[in-house]
This record gives sequence, structure tokens and C-alpha cells, in this order.
Amino acid sequence: MKRDPRYDILFEPVKIGPVTAKNRFFQVPHCNGMGYLRPNSLAEMRGIKAEGGWSVVCTEEVYIHSSSECDPMVEGRLWDDGDIPALAKMTEAVHKHGSLAGIELQHGGFCSTNHYSRIPPISPSAISNDDYVPLQARAMNKSDIREYRKWHRKAALRAKQAGFDLIYVYAAHAGTLLTHFLSRRFNKRTDEYGGSLENRVRLFREVIEDTKDAVGDTCAVAVRFAVDEFLGPQGITAENEGREIVEMLAELPDLWDVNISDWSRDSATSRFESEGYQESYISFVKSVTSKPVVGVGRYTSPDTMVSLIERGIMDMIGAARPSIADPFLPKKIEQGRADEIRECIGCNICVTGDELSVPIRCTQNPTMGEEWRRGWHPERIAARKSDDGVLVVGGGPSGLECALALGQRGYRVILAETLAELGGRVSRESRLPGLSEWGRVRDYRVHMLEKLEEVSIYRGNPLNAEEIFEFSAADQFGYSHVILATGANWRRDGMGRMHREPIPGLEKIPLFTPDDIMDGAVLKGKVVIYDDDHYYMGGVLAEKLRQEGHEVLLVTPAADISTWTHHTLEQKNIQKNLLELGVELAPQTDLAAVHSGMVELACVFTDKRTERACDSLILVTERIPNDELFTALEEDPTRLTDAGIKTLSCIGDCLAPGTIAAAVYSGHLAARELESEPQEEVPFLRERIQL
Ligand code: ADP
Ligand code: SF4
Repeated sequence: MKRDPRYDILFEPVKIGPVTAKNRFFQVPHCNGMGYLRPNSLAEMRGIKAEGGWSVVCTEEVYIHSSSECDPMVEGRLWDDGDIPALAKMTEAVHKHGSLAGIELQHGGFCSTNHYSRIPPISPSAISNDDYVPLQARAMNKSDIREYRKWHRKAALRAKQAGFDLIYVYAAHAGTLLTHFLSRRFNKRTDEYGGSLENRVRLFREVIEDTKDAVGDTCAVAVRFAVDEFLGPQGITAENEGREIVEMLAELPDLWDVNISDWSRDSATSRFESEGYQESYISFVKSVTSKPVVGVGRYTSPDTMVSLIERGIMDMIGAARPSIADPFLPKKIEQGRADEIRECIGCNICVTGDELSVPIRCTQNPTMGEEWRRGWHPERIAARKSDDGVLVVGGGPSGLECALALGQRGYRVILAETLAELGGRVSRESRLPGLSEWGRVRDYRVHMLEKLEEVSIYRGNPLNAEEIFEFSAADQFGYSHVILATGANWRRDGMGRMHREPIPGLEKIPLFTPDDIMDGAVLKGKVVIYDDDHYYMGGVLAEKLRQEGHEVLLVTPAADISTWTHHTLEQKNIQKNLLELGVELAPQTDLAAVHSGMVELACVFTDKRTERACDSLILVTERIPNDELFTALEEDPTRLTDAGIKTLSCIGDCLAPGTIAAAVYSGHLAARELESEPQEEVPFLRERIQL
């Protein structure tokens, strides 16, 4: 197919200093939990982005000196020449597809925890680490500043040697030494590097000049700068110092990559921000520089991208998450397949990989992070091994993904879903406050499934074991493999992490589960939500019911609300939002027992009891897999064989309830593995330490 001429502008080349990007798609730096520990995984993942059409593909932050690291988080490392070969793997993978490789050079200043190196961190002034770490940085003296400039220069030269075409000077997010110098909050110096804005900018300017001098003849020198820190007059704001800094340095770098700070603002989730949320902050930049400008904002719509270019907001469309959800986004637009873009849903499951120091994963793109270790490619999948048919039962995220990947392999697939609506939990949850974009998990798959003749979808079609046995041999259906994706339901007995036995007294009170609420249950009076799940559900239900006018008390044994959302960068926003809505919060509290019209709460440390009035109780604890169908089918192996059913398996939440990302991954894995060779002991490659 040919691309829509309206999108031609997106495929114009852009000159960036001494190099030229072949189009306007720019994969900005993003973390991935691979970093210096997993260079093969990293190179393969970045190479696929280049193959998918991103004209610039960047690293994550790459630490330039042993005085700055954040172990156990796994970022890039360029401390000495020994780190060059690992990074060169990535530049080779990117160059293979005619794209430019960019590197984000980083020194974390006082945000460096240096747990590994044990070197005291450095900072413009002697201040404490931000993360409740018992650690203070020492103030840099003049020779430290000179040393730091040398490290940066050396790192730039090594980056050039590793094959990078674009070298970043990084002053964005909260944790960079250059940002600390810029900020009057952290920079209390009284010499020429502190005080006036001109003085605070001095080191930033010097480092840009040093980098240009060192590598600027052949490499583009980019700046990543956060124009607003959301700290009001205490920090950099787009209207004041943010703008002044860009004005002061306007023509110095070869490219401006501008965003907002901190990372939770920059990578805001769809629960809090929609596509294009950074535009109003960065839109001034192009008016003060003639250099190309890159911006981000979870852009997935080609029309929006065109509009950004035409309105003069930016020259290149920056993307981290949209490139993770769909590494082939540019190619799909180029080939007239824009409808096939797997749009990012803004859930930040990708961020959890970095936060937990494990390879990146993505709700929408199950191949993300698996490119090297499992050999998965987002656009290619092995052809079917036989003419066997496959029955997939359940059209939630795991069933839809499994049917899609099997269909793409060329298998004949029958997908049966009880409800008239496809999507399972994704359809239900996307109707909760702030989660509408999650519906894209369903929409993308349903749209792609409609294109596959091999897949027949039967909605409003609950299947029982008898029917599955019976239909297996039917002419028009016929299947030899049954994959159950029947999901899970929330428990009604309060069992979970805190209670390994049912909570006493639940029969005495009107009781609801998240499923009931999503099914439209009508609640009366004072609502108590007990959250022993700790991801989004408890907080989202509190938000919904409060918005509907209920008095809501949210009880959780954890130290804060929706505590796992620290890993998705949402926790602070969630708790702030609930407090502002007037939800009463009771963290570090257990639901000990239930009585008529009240709940008995217990301090998780002292077990001190208090009673609170309650008219409706919602339990958000655990889910029970819907595996009855599996049990019924498995009970009779002879009947399975007689029915010609060779394999029977469970995927997604009916195997083990988890995130939507885990369900999609499980469905994809089952499709890849159907009729495959028996697994090795470890089902994926590992990056072993060479001894
Ligand atoms: P997952 O996250 O694993 O995909 P979901 O709970 O989102 O699980 O989806 C499970 C889907 O399976 C639901 O849409 C449900 O209606 C459907 N389902 C459950 N049991 C059956 C069945 N026996 N026949 C057909 N569909 C079923
Ligand atoms: Fe987007 Fe979620 Fe994938 Fe991250 S994990 S890229 S936020 S869909």
C-alpha cells in the first residue's frame, strides 16, 4: 500500500548539525532495565526500532563516570574504554537500517546513590540525596568542575568511537548534575557557577561547547532540557527561567530535545494526561532557535504529528512509549498501514522494568524486551506447523492476543466469547475513571483480527465442556488444540496477602467486589474499600464512587495508597487526587472483622482496633482463576483424545491472575509455542557474565 500523501511531511529528512536524519521520527532516550548488564538484548531491541523506521534511535541515560551510578537500577555505562564494545553493538544494529544512533550522556550529581561504587556523590552544593537514602553529596570545588568537564568530554569521544552520530548533553528530569547547577533550589554556590541565572547556566554552556569541540565535526550535539519543573518560582518554569535558558543557548546545540520534569511528569500516564500534554510548555522553543526541535507527548496519531510540524511546534516527533508499543509505527505510516499502529495505552508498565531492574515489557507489545532472548520480532512470526485448528475460549486480552498471533501464523482459529462485547477485563476496566485509553488493547486486536480470514469470532457464545468435546470434530469448526483464556473474578471472602483465611463477619454487611461495581451495582451510604491488591483498582474505585457522591473510606495495609503504582510513576498523583476529591485514606490499616453496619479496623503494627460505620463494603484483594472449564475437560483424558484434542492449556488470568500486560504476554507466548519443539531447561537466552 502507498502512504497517504497527507503524511509526506513526516518523511522529510532533517539536518541535525553534521548529520541528517532520514525522516522526522525520533526515538528519544528511554530506560529499559537492560543497560550495561544486557547489551545483546539492548542492541536487538534498538535495532528493531531502526528497522521500524525511527530515523534516530537513542540509548537510555548512559553514566559517564564511576562517581555516578544508580545500581541496582540498570542504566547505560561509559566509564572507560572497556564500555565501548557493548555500546558499539547498539550503534551497529541501528546503522544496519540506515538510522542514526544517539547517546544520552549522564552524570546524576547528588541523585547518584553510588551504592555500588561507594564514591561520595558530587553536587553544586553539599545536599542530601532525594530518595530517603542516608547519604549527602559533597560540594564540587573548582577542580571538581574541571574534572567533570573532562569526564564529559572523554565520554563524548568514546561515544563517537562507539559509533554514535548524535551526542546528548543532558539537563532534563530531576536527576542530572547539569540540572542541579541550573536550579536555584540545589545550587547555593557563591562563585561564578552560582547565583544569577547566567552563572547557573555557565557549566551547561561550557559542557555543550566542550562536546561540540570534541566531537562536533562529525557528530550532532543535542541538548535534552526540561523547560518546566513544576516547582513554581522555586524552580525552572516555561514562562521564566526555562525560556530564558533556551534563549541564552539558542544556537549553541545542533538540536533541542525539550520536555517537562520530573520523569513522572514527562512520562505521565493516560490516567492523568492525554496525547500532546507537553505542547503548551514547549511550544515557545521553536520561536527562539533556528535549530531542530524535538518534543514528546505520547504521540500515536499521524494526524496530530503532521499538525505539530505544520503549526511549527516541533521539527521531529519524539517518542519513547509510542516506539515501545509499536517499534514499526513509522513504517506503518510510510506503508499506508496507519490503521495498524499498536497505540500506546499510557499505562507505564514499560517503566516498571526499569524500576525493578528487569528487561522492559509492554502491555501492548508482548515482544518488547524479548527480541534477543526469545528471538521475537514485533512484525514477524513463524508460519504454522500444520493444518490443525485451534479453539480459543475467552476474548479478553490474552484470548485476543493469542487468536491474533495464531492467525498471523496462519492457523485456523475459532475464538468464542460469552459476552457480546470483546475485550474481557479491558473493556470493563476501560470504563473506570481515567482508564479509557486501555480500551486500545482490545481495539487494536479486534481491528487486526477482522483482517484475518483464518480467524472466526463467535460473540455471545459461552462454551461448556460438553460443547467443546462435541464441536471439536464438527466439519465447519474442527480443532485439535484448545486454549482457555477464561479470565478470573475478584474474591468475595477477603482472602489475600493479609488474610489467608476468610475475613470474619462478611455475611453481615452488603458486600461488593470490583466486578460488581463494573457491572453497575448500586451502592448505598458510606462506602469502605479494602485494598489488599495494591495496584490501581482500589484507588480507581474510590475515585469513581467519590465522584458519584459517596462518602468513601479507603483502607489498605500498605504504607500508602495503590503502592505498586510507585513503579508506574503514578502513586503521588493517585494519592493527591484522592485526597483532593475528599476520599478518606487509612493506610497501614487492616480490615480485621465485619459487623452489622460497621467494619473493625486494625493498626498493622499494634493491632489496635477501631470501629467505623459502613453501609457498603468493597473487597479488592485477590482474584480467583476461572478454571472450572479446564478442570472439566482435563478430567477425562480419553474423551479428549477421542475428540481429537491434542493439547489443552490455560493462558492469561485463568492461568495466573496478573496485569493486563502479563495476560497479553501469556497469550502471545502460547501462540508462538503452539506445536513448537520441547523447551530447553531455561526457555530463553541469558546474558551470562564471561569469566
Ligand atoms: P484475560 O485477562 O486472561 O484475557 P479476561 O477476564 O479479561 O481474561 O477475559 C476472559 C474472557 O473470557 C471474558 O470476556 C469472559 O466473558 C470470557 N469467558 C469466560 N469463560 C468463557 C466460556 N466458557 N466461554 C466463552 N467465553 C468465556
Ligand atoms: Fe505504552 Fe503501556 Fe506499552 Fe508503556 S507499557 S509503551 S505505557 S502501552
